[in-house]
Amino acid sequence: MAQDLLSTPLQYVRGVGPKRAADLARAGMQTVEDLLLRFPLRYEDRAAPCDIRNLRPGMTATVTAEVVSSGIRATRRPGFRLFEAIIRDASGGITRAVFPNQAFLKDVFKPEQRVVLYGPLEFRGTGLQFTNPEYELIRADGDDDEGSVHTGRIVPIYEKAGAMTPRMQRALVYRVLRELPATIADPVPEAVRAGRRLPDRAEAIRAVHFPDAGASMEALNALKTPAHQRLIFEEFFLFQAGMVLLKRRHAEDRKPRPVVVDDRIRDAARAILPFKLTEGQRTALREIVADMRREEPMNRLLQGDVGAGKTIVALLAALVAMENGLQVAFMAPTEILADQHYLTIRRLLDRARFRVVSLTGSLTAAKRREIHAEIASGTANLVVGTHALAEADLAFKSLGLVIIDEQHRFGVMQRASLRSKGEHPDVLVMTATPIPRTLALTTYGDLDVSVIRELPPGRQPITTVSKSESKREEIYRLVRKELAAGRQAYVVYPLVEDSEKVDLRAATAMADHLQQEVFQEYAVALLHGRLRQDEKDRVMGAFARGDVQVLVSTTVVEVGVDVPNATVMVVEHAERFGLSQLHQLRGRIGRGAHASTCVLLYQFPLSADAKARLAALVETIDGFVIAERDLEIRGPGDFFGTRQSGMPTLRVGDLLRDHQLMEEARREAVAWLDQPESSQALVAYLSANWAARFGLVGVG
Ligand code: ADP
Ligand code: MG
Repeated sequence: MAQDLLSTPLQYVRGVGPKRAADLARAGMQTVEDLLLRFPLRYEDRAAPCDIRNLRPGMTATVTAEVVSSGIRATRRPGFRLFEAIIRDASGGITRAVFPNQAFLKDVFKPEQRVVLYGPLEFRGTGLQFTNPEYELIRADGDDDEGSVHTGRIVPIYEKAGAMTPRMQRALVYRVLRELPATIADPVPEAVRAGRRLPDRAEAIRAVHFPDAGASMEALNALKTPAHQRLIFEEFFLFQAGMVLLKRRHAEDRKPRPVVVDDRIRDAARAILPFKLTEGQRTALREIVADMRREEPMNRLLQGDVGAGKTIVALLAALVAMENGLQVAFMAPTEILADQHYLTIRRLLDRARFRVVSLTGSLTAAKRREIHAEIASGTANLVVGTHALAEADLAFKSLGLVIIDEQHRFGVMQRASLRSKGEHPDVLVMTATPIPRTLALTTYGDLDVSVIRELPPGRQPITTVSKSESKREEIYRLVRKELAAGRQAYVVYPLVEDSEKVDLRAATAMADHLQQEVFQEYAVALLHGRLRQDEKDRVMGAFARGDVQVLVSTTVVEVGVDVPNATVMVVEHAERFGLSQLHQLRGRIGRGAHASTCVLLYQFPLSADAKARLAALVETIDGFVIAERDLEIRGPGDFFGTRQSGMPTLRVGDLLRDHQLMEEARREAVAWLDQPESSQALVAYLSANWAARFGLVGVG
């Protein structure tokens, strides 16, 4: 019964028609449970009535009073009328309540009607008045069936949802709560609740919306009451339990053929190594290969700042798989990056006996068929490509290892689709977006993690400066100096979908301007996502060879591009980029033997957030510090951009604010699931609800 009520679509609740339901849905509330599991924005204490005689201007007060007289008053503004009521309370004090343009109230505030008013007081004309106060009528017969909802208590204030005012929502929540049974099914196990002394679910839901008179306003507004904490804990506990389950389910899968590593394979790996691995790379590789030798499939995240050298680690893992007769799929987020990986891998595997192919969206149909056939027959050992690898009609003969570069760029579905092309293949995902500790527990709770902390030796420092547009000439001189010394430069333009055309024109105009008027003696080229693939290849190739010295580019160079001779980057409109994005961009320089400079050119107006982003970049090049800062500035919701990237949809919890509780919830979830007999109910609940509740791919 209770469960029926909670899952009832709001549209079918008395007093909520299709229009209001649509307003609520837009605010993320579809069912009664959604409505109840949404915290008020804040609370107001309208409990203790104040004597009218004690009212002072500037106070926000509740009074219980009787209407003495009321009427409509015209104002000097044409068509603008005030409804005004004079009220008196038991203390004998008299004051005024004014409601602009609400003439209909004359039928409500009749003389002798008892009312409760709440609102701020101001001094106007001849005396104190309430302007547009919240009000409640007290019924003469004492049989007040709505109870006192809007005044005379601590009241919840909700965020406006379309035409649904806070007051309308309050009345709705109140009505729904009256139908809610005293006890309802609780997904948090009794033992866990008892251990943490959590209030019962129905009680917590009630208390969060209509707190008891004695509740601390401070605790309420900080969401620190036991009721709030219980509901946040519930959300985190269920989320974490689902993550743990997901991970354990994967661990039950068995690969048909775990890899074997022998001396021959070790020699083969050594033979392709162009340099000595760093300590971090070695450790990561050891962890990856250990996973690959196990019977259960690998599910590992390789984290390492831009330039940390993740590619070679992935390639060595690929080599191990191929030496074991398994195919490898290497998926990159953009064609440029896929092409670059393809070239690097071909070069490194030059003398190995493996066939490497590339599969991107821009192949001709005939070429694509040919590559598909090679992958299906197994003659291609390693395929590098874009999301074209995830397409339904591509089949592998024996896919054993899936490598996904910059994995936050891909949706969960694309990853799952590629994975499903093998029989429980090993999966290695890589990211240069360091995951702040706060989020790691959430986003990657189902992955094992390897981290490469240090950069390869010999890297030169990157100096970052942020300069206003007006310093352009000075910046050009700096670029010219680098070019004269034989180095190369990037000039990066923002390109956002909304203003794509304008942005593209700006980048194009800038490339012309730089070529014709600023760097005449050098070659300037333009690279952007709208170019045909062969054009992109031509431009990128020319820049990589050094035939082009200045590359004007939209953000397509953001990820992974590797031209060690490039030592300057000028970012135009730096204020328009995100922090992590700028950090990624900056990772394109500082890759060779020479010191590099990154110039962030900004234009006014500069928002506070933009200022904070630029300051963070100037201050540090540590990607982990940047990620933490980014998270602070943007909040966890936006950190990864899309919901698809694996961020759960949280209703009441906040990853930053409630981080501590998330860690505790994880511990409790692990402990509880370690007791198979008692955790069955929870497992069943999660299988049915987890995916939908958190907007993620299922546990089941
Ligand atoms: P990312 O982790 O950002 O993907 P890459 O794999 O592209 O970094 O590596 C960045 C650059 O560093 C490449 O030019 C690569 O050849 C070089 N590199 C990687 N590891 C080492 C190492 N151990 N010693 C020297 N250079 C290295
Ligand atoms: Mg990379």
